[in-house]
Amino acid sequence: MKNYIVGNWKMNQSLEEINAFFTSFNEIFPNTSDNVFVGVSPQSFHIPLLMSHPKKPEFINIGAQNCSQHKSGAFTGENSPNALKEIGTVFTLIGHSERRQFFGETSNLALGEKIQSALDEGLQVIYCIGESLQERKQNLTQSVLKEQTITALKNIKIENQDQLLIAYEPVWAIGTGETATPEQAEEAHQWIRGFLNELPNINQETPLLYGGSVKPENVDALLAKENINGALVGGASLKGDSFGKLCLAATK
Ligand code: PEP
Repeated sequence: MKNYIVGNWKMNQSLEEINAFFTSFNEIFPNTSDNVFVGVSPQSFHIPLLMSHPKKPEFINIGAQNCSQHKSGAFTGENSPNALKEIGTVFTLIGHSERRQFFGETSNLALGEKIQSALDEGLQVIYCIGESLQERKQNLTQSVLKEQTITALKNIKIENQDQLLIAYEPVWAIGTGETATPEQAEEAHQWIRGFLNELPNINQETPLLYGGSVKPENVDALLAKENINGALVGGASLKGDSFGKLCLAATK
């Protein structure tokens, strides 16, 4: 199976920083191989800029960090899935924990609809799930992941099964420097694979990415696990050299 390395730039990166990112990225990872998918999600108004950036290698896929369930209309501040597709966006994150935490998104509230709308437009979707520290301490990880997976995906109709990916991102590991151990991540990914058995509409081989303080120092051990098919990366995706090293690790 392919390895996926996807950077989530969140609300970061000035134009100068983007330029510096590509300069160092291109030194470390000038060419890709067929078994690696490389993606970057900038702030949405930077999407066209990145796509035509003179230093961007062809193989980097550009994605959005969020996408509305509505195609158009009076929804101030939202990204429409068809407008994203129209400008050439390849994928979108949906349900990132920061969207759940700060913008009230829940698996029940619109996330399934958002996934469906993005898929219908032909965008690839990286659906993000993960438990909080409190939930982990209360031994609720498995049930939280189950609810987040089943509720959002149970009614999804998907023609091209390659369009959907799931990212397991324990909230306590995002931006904290604390990474789930490869064993903890693999255990969660095995649970998620098990939940997919209950969803006949979803490809059982759906790629599962891990996210939460992934860096060049810990990526090899994570990617070595059977059910970890890639990484969704925040902090370490902002600099071209660390992101390039993650991509290199994914080619092994
Ligand atoms: C993320 O926000 O998706 C993420 C994984 O961030 P970080 O790598 O900084 O923990």
